[in-house]
Amino acid sequence: MAHKYVYLFSEGDGSMKELLGGKGANLAEMVRLGLPVPQGFTVSTEACTRYYDDGKVIGEDIHAQIEEYLAKTEEINGKTFGDPANPLLVSVRSGARASMPGMMDTILNLGLNDDVAAGMIAGNPDPAFERFVYDSYRRFIQMFSDVVMELSKKRFEEIIDELKEQKQVKDDIELTAADMKELVARFKAFYKREKGGDFPADPKEQLLEAVKAVFRSWDNPRANVYRRMNEIPYSWGTAVNVQPMVYGNLNNDSGTGVAFTRDPATGEKALFGEYLINAQGEDVVAGVRTPSEIAQLAQDMPEVYAQFVEIANKLEQHYKDMQDMEFTIENKKLYMLQTRNGKRTAAAALRIAVDQVDEGMITEEQAIARVEPQQLDALLHPQFDSKALAAAAPIGSGLAASPGAACGRVVFTAADAKEWALKGEKVILVRLETSPDDIEGMEAAEGILTVRGGMTSHAAVVARGMGTCCVSGCGDIVMHAAEKYFTLGGNKYNEGDYISLNGTTGNIYGEAIPTVEATISGDFERFMGWADARRVLKVRTNADNPRDTAQAVKFGAEGIGLCRTEHMFFEGDRIKSMRKMIVAKDETARRAALAELLPYQQSDFTAMFEALEGRPMTVRFLDPPLHEFLPQKDDEIAEIAAELGVTAEELKNKVESLHEFNPMMGHRGCRLAVSYPEIAEMQTTAVINAALAVNAAHPEYNIVPEIMIPLICELKELKFVKDVVVKTADALIAASGADLKYMVGTMIEIPRAALLADEIAKEAEFFSFGTNDLTQMTFGFSRDDAGAFLDAYYDTKIFENDPFARLDQSGVGQLVKMAVERGKAARPNIKLGICGEHGGDPSSVKFCHAIGLNYVSCSPFRVPIARLAAAQAAIASL
Ligand code: ADP
Ligand code: MG
Ligand code: MG
Repeated sequence: MAHKYVYLFSEGDGSMKELLGGKGANLAEMVRLGLPVPQGFTVSTEACTRYYDDGKVIGEDIHAQIEEYLAKTEEINGKTFGDPANPLLVSVRSGARASMPGMMDTILNLGLNDDVAAGMIAGNPDPAFERFVYDSYRRFIQMFSDVVMELSKKRFEEIIDELKEQKQVKDDIELTAADMKELVARFKAFYKREKGGDFPADPKEQLLEAVKAVFRSWDNPRANVYRRMNEIPYSWGTAVNVQPMVYGNLNNDSGTGVAFTRDPATGEKALFGEYLINAQGEDVVAGVRTPSEIAQLAQDMPEVYAQFVEIANKLEQHYKDMQDMEFTIENKKLYMLQTRNGKRTAAAALRIAVDQVDEGMITEEQAIARVEPQQLDALLHPQFDSKALAAAAPIGSGLAASPGAACGRVVFTAADAKEWALKGEKVILVRLETSPDDIEGMEAAEGILTVRGGMTSHAAVVARGMGTCCVSGCGDIVMHAAEKYFTLGGNKYNEGDYISLNGTTGNIYGEAIPTVEATISGDFERFMGWADARRVLKVRTNADNPRDTAQAVKFGAEGIGLCRTEHMFFEGDRIKSMRKMIVAKDETARRAALAELLPYQQSDFTAMFEALEGRPMTVRFLDPPLHEFLPQKDDEIAEIAAELGVTAEELKNKVESLHEFNPMMGHRGCRLAVSYPEIAEMQTTAVINAALAVNAAHPEYNIVPEIMIPLICELKELKFVKDVVVKTADALIAASGADLKYMVGTMIEIPRAALLADEIAKEAEFFSFGTNDLTQMTFGFSRDDAGAFLDAYYDTKIFENDPFARLDQSGVGQLVKMAVERGKAARPNIKLGICGEHGGDPSSVKFCHAIGLNYVSCSPFRVPIARLAAAQAAIASL
């Protein structure tokens, strides 16, 4: 028997989403529940995959099945496709497994042509009916031309506007039957002009072209972007639903609407929705007229309303989740056209989950699975006022580097940001790119906008840590920082002008859009409590100052998984000592400079241990190449040389000697400590002394510092640095007379280290997977340069998502898994964690759970996300 590609609604059910798509499966389920649904058929997602495999054609066998099921649909509905006396008209609707609202297209009233229209009118002498027929016809031409022939809807709207102007009317509803007929004629003429052929009159041809167009729409640019953002694989394909039309635009006893079983904005338990009398399909969302609230339907059509309420309750009880429903009323008869689990705000998601547990509808485990971890972000950051946002148009966009919304006045330097903020101004710091010197300004700003830099640029990483909104890498900006203005989208923005940033979408607005503060409700605490009770993975944070640490602890961090020590060398006088260390001509001079740095570093660690109140901390030793600490421009070199007491010439030579062709693979990480063991000595001293001091003041903390050596690729290398650490630490501990345990471990971030993990585990008491570097080194391209070609990789489907945002489980993940196995084999109680950006990405967290890591570490504002993702992973694996 031939493979089955087409299913009647009555042949499917709600569990068949993979095959029938979400919309098709739910239509089938509603038919099964005996609800009033116009019964049609679904062309499966497999047919879509076949379409692409066959070179974008619909195979003969699939074509034949579509015709067969069309005949069955005609029989069920007692109407015939293309028959003027009793025509069947259908909608052709896309529907993927996961709902992708607005990403793909729908065509209504398909099956109309001049004969069918004339036949329909002949059967009903009411002039209002004639208007309805031509209204439906012109809508069909519009949608078909847009979806199938790529003639933009907008150009048809222009033709409508022209006619309205000629007729001196304001609303579509004022156009008469003759006007609608005229529109049909004008639309067809326009079509012929543009396409050089007549609008297709054969309903079967219309249908086949529409099915193909829906398949094609799976690959349209907005669908591709949506899939990438929502991790929906390209291979899934979309199904196509062909459904007999019901007519909400028939008369004033008809209408169409959308409703939710609970309020999707707040989660309140009450029917929420809108409808329009005498309207079709998308009129409600399109805002053609102002719709009425659903409650009004109780007055307009009490019986229909009562029936709808009953169906809504039944559907929510059935799916045990908030439903988003589409319905149409034709001559006072209600039809259901769609139901799905409704999209909702983060606040609503929590409230609904918690309420439904209290109502006994779902279990705590089900509630945990309901909330998307990513969504929690919105609860922790300010958001735009949604009405004001809807009215605003972006002037440009960059990368959504750090979530939340910000509104403020443009400043161009960190110093100005700080000064203006002190005066009570809200500011947005606009920079070409940020550097560690900008920290204080970044902290003072509501939001940060950069021209250069990716998702892991300095601005992005630091902003995420602070929870400050950031849009990075907006290359369209032309900066004139010295003259204090920039241009974007053809406009000029001066210092002091208001702009707004959306760090969740990357959009930039040239105006002030009011924001609303983040609020954490009681639902959040309760819900996260359920999650914590079930997760196995611990969640730590990446932090290198007491403020971020305290923030992360508030969000539930159980320790620090990555404390980057280099950030501690930038502020104030420290950078000077650091530079002295770098230009030192011999070990003695270097040790003298390091001695200046020691008290700073020690007091930083002390403050961190105190903020952690006994929670563990992994301290990573100096990692970046030294040239990052030196000035690069001539005038700065001259100035700093004077400060350091060397000649500009000497400093310049030093800068040049440190120049590397490939700094990412240069003199950095543990290689610095191998060249200059005294750096590791100083850092060990700072960590151990800080731990001794804090333990002495708070014996109950019982701190066991974890010292992490970065960028190891070889056992002997680790052993060399570890010996320096152990010798230094043991001497200090012995001298103190106190009892202090400490651990020495390493980052696994070079593929060779993963391959030799069993060797390395002989000396390493813990592994922390640095998946940023590990991803770079495994793929062989750097995260900072990938922007140049990743788009081409997405377009060609070579990559479906950014391996730096989502752990590449099949490649990099295998290295991690192998290192876990080998590490455990050599040292069964080895501690395992991850500290790359991936530590806060839900799907990567699930992978970390599956391979048995002990903890993930992520930026403070991602801690709740990781907690929830870890709980979901634990529940899913039961
Ligand atoms: P989307 O997924 O973008 O919501 P839909 O396929 O649900 O697209 O259709 C868009 C609109 O057309 C919806 O309002 C829907 O209710 C309406 N619609 C779809 N099929 C029919 C039909 N057979 N009869 C009447 N209206 C329909
Ligand atoms: Mg819909
Ligand atoms: Mg690294």
